[in-house]
Amino acid sequence: MSATEKPPLHNEELRISAIAVSRGIGDGPAFFLPAFDIPAEHRYLTDENVSKEVDRLKFAVGRAQVNLDKLASPSAGNDSIAGIFDTHLLILDSFAAKVEHRIRSEHINSEWAIEAILKDGVARQGTDTDKHLLEKHLDLKDVAAGIVDELRNADRVDIPAGSVVISREIRPSAVMEMARSSPAAFVTRRGGWTSHSAILARELGIPMITGANLSMIQPGDRVIADGFSGEVIVRPGEKVIASLSSAQISIAEPVSTLDIGQETTTLNGIGMTLRVNAESAVAYENARRVGATGVGLFRSESLIPKSGKIPNEDQQAVAYMRIGETVGTAGVNIRTFDIGPETSNGMSVAERNPSLGLRSIRLSLAEPELLKTQLRAILRANDLGNLSIVIPLVSGLSEIRRFRDALNQVVESMSASSKWIPRVGAMIEVPSAVLTAREIADEVDFLCLGTNDLVQYLLAVDRDNERVADWYQTLNPAVLRAISEVVTAGRDAAIPVTVCGEMAGSLFYIPLLIGLGVRELSMSGNSIAAARRLIGGISSLDAEAVANEAAAGKTAAEVDLALRKLYLKHWAHLFPEGFLELKHS
Ligand code: PEP
Ligand code: MG
Repeated sequence: MSATEKPPLHNEELRISAIAVSRGIGDGPAFFLPAFDIPAEHRYLTDENVSKEVDRLKFAVGRAQVNLDKLASPSAGNDSIAGIFDTHLLILDSFAAKVEHRIRSEHINSEWAIEAILKDGVARQGTDTDKHLLEKHLDLKDVAAGIVDELRNADRVDIPAGSVVISREIRPSAVMEMARSSPAAFVTRRGGWTSHSAILARELGIPMITGANLSMIQPGDRVIADGFSGEVIVRPGEKVIASLSSAQISIAEPVSTLDIGQETTTLNGIGMTLRVNAESAVAYENARRVGATGVGLFRSESLIPKSGKIPNEDQQAVAYMRIGETVGTAGVNIRTFDIGPETSNGMSVAERNPSLGLRSIRLSLAEPELLKTQLRAILRANDLGNLSIVIPLVSGLSEIRRFRDALNQVVESMSASSKWIPRVGAMIEVPSAVLTAREIADEVDFLCLGTNDLVQYLLAVDRDNERVADWYQTLNPAVLRAISEVVTAGRDAAIPVTVCGEMAGSLFYIPLLIGLGVRELSMSGNSIAAARRLIGGISSLDAEAVANEAAAGKTAAEVDLALRKLYLKHWAHLFPEGFLELKHS
């Protein structure tokens, strides 16, 4: 090759911009999953072969069910993961009935019937880009593929450990299966933040990127999947590899090198409490290993399976006891059901504004049996006296008082052996609760700042509506003032204030929160190690100065710009290259 000739394309570094849906940086050789589109052969069946084919189908469905049962059982380790496969179990029955109907009415083989039903689904879906429909279809395909695997007795996907798994889409069950081989990352064409595969990847701590154009990647290429920026770097050059190592060192240092036993303190020695938002013993254990102290938020509605059936008192007591025993004295804040009427009684109640409707504490107070059953379960599980209760969507003091009345009644009705009375805290996520935080703080044991909803309700912007995503501004000056107001109310009443929304686990917001006086954060387990590392490099005095200066901004954009400049000035060394240029809201 002459000196002027360009090297062949497949040697060049290439960057693909996509969407990060599970954080972390994965680096490894590209491994392409075999496509799981199902190529089926058409067989026409005689009358007598139809019932044999139905038997063959039933056998395969039975085996697929056993596989799903294993994944759906809470002993699989994680209740929210198990919930996903609960849904698949529900789909399996009705899907199998449809396949059987096709076999009988059209005299066709199982595989052909399955493919026909899936094609009908795609046709009905048409050009609809509704995320939920797409996700439902992926669930259906996953269930179908499970049956076809059994019909063919197909081998499971085996991936080389440490590889970056590339696929047009990845089934949730495949995510679970592949997790055992420790993939470096997943990169897909299709999927989204709320897809079950992405939820699983986040739970399992595997970086994942979706929306990537995969055509430029070749099997075996070295690939860096940056689950912070959403960038996929194919065949990275030396410069990228060098900067990658420094990014990993500053943010994603392996667990073994963290000072696990040590408390989390700022550079100037101010103690910070880092809790985890978790719903299972396994999730807590993983977070504890990287330095979490207690569960700051146990979203009890995660115990409700997708079928919507509320667990009874015994089932709830077992779940609360299990997490309580695992966590011990560090304590667990159990949030009462944060649900709407559609979940509590299975009725589809058409509320015009569901997020402003009969939900959360309002619903618990309106359905006393729902609340009292939950309170009895918590009291029964509170043998160690380490369970606290958090009330969601508090709008004022009257709900706290009504809640306490219900709690007192339940305590009175129970035997003397279960009389550890839990501490009671209020979620502060509604503007009226911010403005009356002082009154609330006088009558509760702690406050939890739910910033996800706080931004939604303070700015009147639906947190789940992509069309108004630009209005969901975490850095709106009103949000900063609200946080500061609540922190001060907590301090004056001498009770803890824990920030437990997504803000708490974001490296971009943590210095700001420290500067606003926050000393307790509760976040997803995946964020803890990096958060601790960052906090250790920050002086609370600098953070206060930064927060004061940034809070002078009059719009979210001004606050954002000020923060970036100040972070670069004080702490550029603590963030990976390019991190401060990313969008963080
Ligand atoms: C919040 O609103 O910030 C919160 C922690 O609760 P959720 O996200 O469950 O509403
Ligand atoms: Mg909330």
